[in-house]
Amino acid sequence: MAKDYAKSFYNGKAWKDTQAAYMASQCYVCERCGGMARIVHHMKYITPQNIHDPNITLSWDNLKALCIDCHNAEHMGKSAIAEGLRFNEYGELVRV
Ligand SMILES: [Zn+2]
Ligand SMILES: [Zn+2]
Repeated sequence: MAKDYAKSFYNGKAWKDTQAAYMASQCYVCERCGGMARIVHHMKYITPQNIHDPNITLSWDNLKALCIDCHNAEHMGKSAIAEGLRFNEYGELVRV
């Protein structure tokens, strides 16, 4: 499946700690619609080239707290998600 390179990053402690701290700093509020945030989104998408660059992957400047709908919209708007895929509540790509 796609995005295998990102799996160890998303499952790693560094990301989990950063994500939890960022979510808490935003009080779990979606930065787009004010709803309940569930996902910390990377504004600059993670790629195989920057996956080991903490200035991209772990920088709060590059993060956004989003609810599921807004997260899907962010990615769909830029068509970063292949057809038939969407993000689940953990921010993982799953088949629809
Ligand atoms: Zn939202
Ligand atoms: Zn995202």
